[in-house]
This record gives sequence, structure tokens and C-alpha cells, in this order.
Amino acid sequence: MTKTYKSVRGTYDFSPAEANLFNELAEGARKIFHLFGYEEIILPLIEEEGVFVRSVGETTDIVEKQIFRIIKRSEEDTSIVLRPEGTAQVVRYYLENSIYKQRSLSKFFYIGPMFRGERPQRGRLRQFNHFGAEAIGSKSIYLDAEIILLAMKILEAIGISQVKLNINTLGCQSDKEKFQQLLREELAREKSRLCDDCKRRLEKNSLRILDCKEEQCKKIANNFCVRDINDRFYLCADCKKDFNDLMSILKNSGLKPDYNPCLVRGLDYYTNTVFEITSGYLGSQDALGAGGRYNNLIKNLGGPEIPAIGFALGVERIILALNKKGKITPQTAFVALTGEKLINEAYLILQLLRNANISADMDFCAKSLKGQFRYAERKEASYVVIIADDEYKEGYVLLKNMETGEQEKIKKEELISTLRGYIADGEGAA
Ligand SMILES: [Zn+2]
Ligand SMILES: [Zn+2]
Repeated sequence: MTKTYKSVRGTYDFSPAEANLFNELAEGARKIFHLFGYEEIILPLIEEEGVFVRSVGETTDIVEKQIFRIIKRSEEDTSIVLRPEGTAQVVRYYLENSIYKQRSLSKFFYIGPMFRGERPQRGRLRQFNHFGAEAIGSKSIYLDAEIILLAMKILEAIGISQVKLNINTLGCQSDKEKFQQLLREELAREKSRLCDDCKRRLEKNSLRILDCKEEQCKKIANNFCVRDINDRFYLCADCKKDFNDLMSILKNSGLKPDYNPCLVRGLDYYTNTVFEITSGYLGSQDALGAGGRYNNLIKNLGGPEIPAIGFALGVERIILALNKKGKITPQTAFVALTGEKLINEAYLILQLLRNANISADMDFCAKSLKGQFRYAERKEASYVVIIADDEYKEGYVLLKNMETGEQEKIKKEELISTLRGYIADGEGAA
């Protein structure tokens, strides 16, 4: 027996109906991105590894455990990886093209797959799609509000209800460092109770303990997330004020942001605002999307000091939350023939229909008329054009309306205009 293959673990095949759903969601998202003034870019799936190591962070799960390396073709090749996320890559594009020299504010969005080599488990994929946005060039908290409203608006437009917005501020770089220092000192006393990963994180990057998946670690670290923002002494006055102002803007915009002082998100480049959006349909572990400010990332990747903020929504999780299957694209017409010797005539009619921009198909497998009708039904054809021997010789075809079951005999030359009339009527009624 020849070996047969299965899809790689942690990947997902989109069937025709699911592909349609994906495109429908992407179109819905695109409309909202444009509504907010964001421009689409399409970037490669592969990048130099350093782009992510120097931005996402060396001690993050993404870089430590999940990155997919591409086998080097030669010794001169730099280390190339499949992109695990979009933000660092957009910044690479932004810097490589010196876009900051052309304009002060740039707003981009992207739609496409990301790759993370996690141990595949339920709901976690190794290839998944993101709808992402990045606004680069301003530290205005109104831009923070815009990014959050944009993410929420996309979910709403796509049909997701019951979403929850969790939000926090990490403070500016110096605030963040103070908090990391505090965590390091306080958690050192609990070191023996932390998991092995967190024991390492304690020295290298204590903030990452807050996104450890182990309940025990989370519990210990969460004790240091002070509920009242005014009691978070390590935050400077400016950062406190910005966060309080942002909360007011969001509330005045009709959102109900939920302040969560433990929220850090697993990426090193975040500063100030971080947020995540969860759905009642999925477990609290699985956010529909998340984002935040990254005011130091551009500098860390070799550019000038330029503030920025962005987010990404997980498309597969959106589909899970929607609990929708998608529909196939219905065919307008289907050409059926009563006998194999009419294949030439049927094929001519098929081309006639397609040339008239009427979507049409036929069966290429010499099935019985009944078999051809079954296929027409699967293709959800609205009309079947039947090529029958006697009628065709007299210059007629039969046209069957698949919804009503009515069948009529019409002149060959009138087939296109008749169908066009029906389609127009159908559209009018819809
Ligand atoms: Zn600050
Ligand atoms: Zn841990």
C-alpha cells in the first residue's frame, strides 16, 4: 500500500464553505479598517529571526518555545523563521522604508497567517490567521481609544456579541522596570513554589511570570497586582493620568472596559496600555484578540524613538465563537444532457452562459440525468438547462427552475436573455 498523508498536527483545512466564511469575515474587517483610515499591507510569511527575538523578547514563550525555523539553504543564509506575529514585522517594514520621513502618523492593517510551534492542544493551532492593525507615530491616548474601538467594531460588524474588554497599563518603560524589580524581590521569597520556567523568569524577566500557564505561579504573582490604580506606587503620575483619561474616553464611547491589573500579555515590547478581548463563548484562556502600546519597539529595532499601538484578532477563534459553518457559492445555472452524444451541444451552451457572465457548470462524468440533477443540487444551482435530443434539433432547450420545479421550453437564442431576466427579478425580490 502507498502511504497516504494527513494534515500536519495543529493546522486546519478550510473547506469551500469555510473558505467563503473566512473571506466574508475578512471583507467585513477590511471595511471597518478602511472606515477608520487604516491601509492594508501584505508582508512575507518569513522574516529574519532577530526581528522577533529583539522585539517580542528572548524569554517569551513565543521566542523560547514556539518559533518555527526554516532550514538554511547555505551557510551564508541568515536565520529565517516563519513569522509568529505581525507587529514586529510591520515595524521592520516601516523602518526599512523610512516611512517616518514621509509622514508623522502611519496606520496599517494586515490579514494573514502566523505560525507558532506550540504543542498542539485543543483550540491552539500552529498556523492561524490574524486581522491586525498598527498605528505608528503618536502617543495620544485618543489613538489608544481608536485602536480599541476599531477592534471592538470589527468584532461587532462580524457578528460577535458578548465580548469583554480587559484593560491595564504597564506604565512607561521606567515604571515597567520598577514593577519588574518589585516582582523579582517579592517573588524571590516564593521561589521554591514556582515552576521551573518561572524560576528562570524570576532572574531574566519577572513580568513573564504573570502569563505563566501554571495556576500556582499565576496565583503567587497575582498577589502583587494592586487593584486600585492609585496604589500602584511604581506608576508615574503621567501614566496614571493617561490611563484614567483613556478609561473615561472608552466609557464615553459606549464601552465597558474592565480594569485588570494582572493583565500583561506575553510580549516584551508592550508599554503603557495593554488590552485583551474575550468572548463568553470561549474559555477565559482564549482571547479573541489583544493588543497594546509599544513605545520602545521601534527604537529597539534600530529606528528613532517613535510611539505606536496595535492589536491582532485571531480569526479561527472568531469562527469558533461565531459557531458558523459558512456556505458554498451557489451556481446560477447547470447544464444537463439527456445523452452522452449531446456533450458537444451542452459544452457550447455552457460556454455561452459563462461568456454572458452567468455562473454555470456541468457534469463531466457522463452520469445519468438523475445523477446530473443530484450534482446540480449539491452546487445549489438555481436553474438547470436540459439539452434533450428532439427539442435541441428543433432549436429549443428546457429550462427548469430548481426552486419551484417549473420547467419550460425556450428557444436556444433566448436562453441568455430569459435567464438574465429571471436573475434580475430574483435580485429585485431579495
Ligand atoms: Zn510612567
Ligand atoms: Zn510558572
